[in-house]
Amino acid sequence: MQRFDVIVVGAGPAGASAAYAATRAGLRVALIDRKSFPREKLCGGLITGRARRHYAEIFGHAMPFEPQDCKTTVDFWFRGRPMGLIKDAPALYTTMRWDMDAMLCGQALGAGAQDFTGQAVAEIDHDARTVMLKGGAVLDYGVLIGADGVHSQVARALFGQPFDRQRIGFGLEIEARGAPSDPAAPIRIDLAAAQWGYGWVFPKRCSTTVGVGGLLSENPDMKRAMADYCAVLGLASEEASVKGQFLPFGDFRPIPGQGAVLLVGDAAGLVDPITGEGIGYAMQSGQLAAKAAIAALGAGRPQTALSHYRRALRPVHRALHMARLIRPVIFLPALEPGFARAFQRSSTLRHDYLRLMAGEVEYGQILARLVLRLPRLGIMALRARF
Ligand SMILES: Cc1cc2nc3c(=O)[nH]c(=O)nc-3n(C[C@H](O)[C@H](O)[C@H](O)COP(=O)(O)OP(=O)(O)OC[C@H]3O[C@@H](n4cnc5c(N)ncnc54)[C@H](O)[C@@H]3O)c2cc1C
Repeated sequence: MQRFDVIVVGAGPAGASAAYAATRAGLRVALIDRKSFPREKLCGGLITGRARRHYAEIFGHAMPFEPQDCKTTVDFWFRGRPMGLIKDAPALYTTMRWDMDAMLCGQALGAGAQDFTGQAVAEIDHDARTVMLKGGAVLDYGVLIGADGVHSQVARALFGQPFDRQRIGFGLEIEARGAPSDPAAPIRIDLAAAQWGYGWVFPKRCSTTVGVGGLLSENPDMKRAMADYCAVLGLASEEASVKGQFLPFGDFRPIPGQGAVLLVGDAAGLVDPITGEGIGYAMQSGQLAAKAAIAALGAGRPQTALSHYRRALRPVHRALHMARLIRPVIFLPALEPGFARAFQRSSTLRHDYLRLMAGEVEYGQILARLVLRLPRLGIMALRARF
């Protein structure tokens, strides 16, 4: 039996951040991932100001990018109609998760976390506080951090199921590698390319990532939405190359763990229900969970880790809750045309949306402005219907 202060299951942005922060605080940390890095992860790879801020705070330096990765032009569309090209948008950055996650995991291992990547978890025993790996090794923990993504085995061991199918989102993507892609081209967002969601085109240095995503319950035929979107873009959607994945999309767990077991990132449902951003919240929650583990272990009471973590996570939960309140104004089919018109006419609304996407403004600030607009949105929606 090997003993660790903290075991982190999952070495994506949430797990790597947690393992790095806990290791740097002097704790003995095991970092487990069933995959060896680099590994594929289906994702748009768009990095917001929020993600960059958390990265710099955790790892102590600015996130590395090439100049071509920086995007300040965004092209909005609604049902095949252009809604405006914005040239002075707050900076968004493009990445490939293959590279970014290997870099994050490498930093956690470089800081001294013990490397258990390429090894799957066979069994978690919360009473004995042990994790058994498929190879037979048994690891003992003080605090366990479940950073194992949307299908979280740690969440399943605690709650029986990792997510609620009625509330989860789903995304489909293709990587148009080798296609004549112009990395200087704008980011494209198509509101309504999926129900309660949107479509995206992220031009990158080596590829263009194209996808649609939205609430699963509202999109019974997401493949059709993807094929239609590819047709709008003039792309051949070869079914074989389309990949899909669940996305918690705001279905966060109000109680993200139990005693000495903490859930972070997608495992805790920490994804923005409007923009689908999850990387920034994954890093932030990973760091907060590490801090909670440090406090609980420092007091000799690992079982209090969850209460430390819940307190620290409150502002994130509040933001996601507000975003869920705002979401119908944007996505409810009856209000959608009204929102689209207001969006086209109002540069304030477009900039608010972009500042939200870039993680430069919080939902609380937006909510007040939207509530003031609601009567006008309602009238526009009625006009659009009749
Ligand atoms: C189609 C799509 C597009 C997206 N686009 C964006 C975007 O552009 N920008 C953005 O910010 N967010 C985006 N997201 C959301 C983002 O991908 C996630 O929120 C983010 O990856 C969460 O990070 P994580 O570390 O919690 O989980 P993950 O990145 O999923 O990492 C989990 C890790 O756990 C490992 N693991 C899983 N199970 C086990 C196990 N049993 N044992 C050991 N290891 C295990 C996995 O191998 C993986 O490495 C998108 C999501 C989807 C589906």
